[in-house]
Amino acid sequence: MRFQDLKLLPALLRAVNELGYREPTPIQAQAIPPVLAGRDLIGCAQTGTGKTAAFAVPILQMLQGKGERGHRPIRALILTPTRELALQIQECFQQYGKYLPVRSAVIFGGVGQGPQVEALERGVDVLVATPGRLNDLCAQGHVDLGSLEIFVLDEADRMLDMGFIHDVRKVIARLPKKRQTLLFSATMPQEIAELAGTILHDPVRVEVTPQSSTVDAIEQRLYRVDKVNKRRLLVWLLQQRQEQTVLVFTATKHGADRVVKELGRADIAAMAIHGNKSQSSRVRALESFKSGEIRVLVATDIAARGIDISQLPLVINFDLPNVPETYVHRIGRTGRAGRSGLAISFCNFDELGLLKDIEKLIGKKIPEVGDHPWPMEVFAPALKAERPPRRREERSARESDAQPEQAPERSGGRRRRRGAQEKRDGAGDRKSPVQLSGAAPTKTRRPGPPKETPAGEKGPAPQQKVPVRKLASTPPPLPGHVVAVADGRFRRK
Ligand code: AMP
Repeated sequence: MRFQDLKLLPALLRAVNELGYREPTPIQAQAIPPVLAGRDLIGCAQTGTGKTAAFAVPILQMLQGKGERGHRPIRALILTPTRELALQIQECFQQYGKYLPVRSAVIFGGVGQGPQVEALERGVDVLVATPGRLNDLCAQGHVDLGSLEIFVLDEADRMLDMGFIHDVRKVIARLPKKRQTLLFSATMPQEIAELAGTILHDPVRVEVTPQSSTVDAIEQRLYRVDKVNKRRLLVWLLQQRQEQTVLVFTATKHGADRVVKELGRADIAAMAIHGNKSQSSRVRALESFKSGEIRVLVATDIAARGIDISQLPLVINFDLPNVPETYVHRIGRTGRAGRSGLAISFCNFDELGLLKDIEKLIGKKIPEVGDHPWPMEVFAPALKAERPPRRREERSARESDAQPEQAPERSGGRRRRRGAQEKRDGAGDRKSPVQLSGAAPTKTRRPGPPKETPAGEKGPAPQQKVPVRKLASTPPPLPGHVVAVADGRFRRK
């Protein structure tokens, strides 16, 4: 299928052609005709499938030409969970609508509202918004949604994950009953399916390649490595590899900062993007990354959500995500819109359970690369309870580090499957610190070296206790290389 077959205006065809889009992606081919026909739509698609154009292009076509002189009421609202995504969606509206007289604006929290209010007062046809700021500005009387014709709820499942669903419902209550509604969600949890049932009228259902087959198109590799050696492995890998645009995911904000520092020491240009960074420094990091000024962007999931970077050749999971679906979202950033890509994941002992969940979700084992300089040597969970008290500043840094990043718009966002994660951390087949603190210090070790076990075969094999001994270190220890583990602490040479 060609874009011409979609009965698009010449102005839109020209804009997409200039962006180098040769043919519509499956979600665009399926969604554009019914949206142009005025139908409600439910789209199961994740970021990276071209879903923004799937709604932005027909909306621009429907809005053009109908503009009122003088006052311009908001006629289309796109509600999206994060500011990064909001910015990128508006950028798409500007790119696709380059040759059309349709005006758009974007509003999101975390920055002063002055310029956003000014933009609204000038009049906009399309408003892209995050839910918290939109409700604030509605309550202050700066936004009137009374003339709305089209409502897009983007990344609905993320809204739920991030605890925004209440705000979303509040926004929906402000909308005219008679409107066209499009709902996009990568997954369809019960709560979103129920919401869809109440806000959509006789929707067309459009589903693009199920997640697992999207994942199949991406080359995946697994490196088993101890937590303390992950940064060294990352530096080593980046020195070996040629990719000039690499997105690295860490579990925590401090973890992201530490990775950036380590890469800096190795002369690898990197910046971090996470919730502790100001909006301007996030935008700067993203722009430096997109322009090729820096090679590596280190991100937490929340901050990275919605980052639109095409032709990303390599994604590295420095830490495995707690929620298996997040793995699919993360690696979906490579191999986008039909391009191939590589996703590399690091996994330490404590993450084997997460690896098992991910492999279950994607329905296959991630091929393991056993031959690297920092193979896993620690086959025991971290014994946090046995650590001596740390100095105060060190303790507070680590404690904040242990906090998973919260949603940027407000604190207290609900993290899906937190219970499951806690269970995984504290129960299951792992020994608790109390169980392990016997008379003599012991160390649990999986029998046999890791390379003999086929990649990710069955997660941790039944454990057996063996006395602590100095581990054979491969390769020969470098200064600062961790060589031994005793009573839960690492010793540096
Ligand atoms: P999205 O899923 O909307 O975030 O889009 C993912 C990436 O695919 C973006 O960089 C788009 O610019 C790009 N893209 C969208 N549609 C097409 C297309 N038809 N052909 C090539 N690239 C596209």
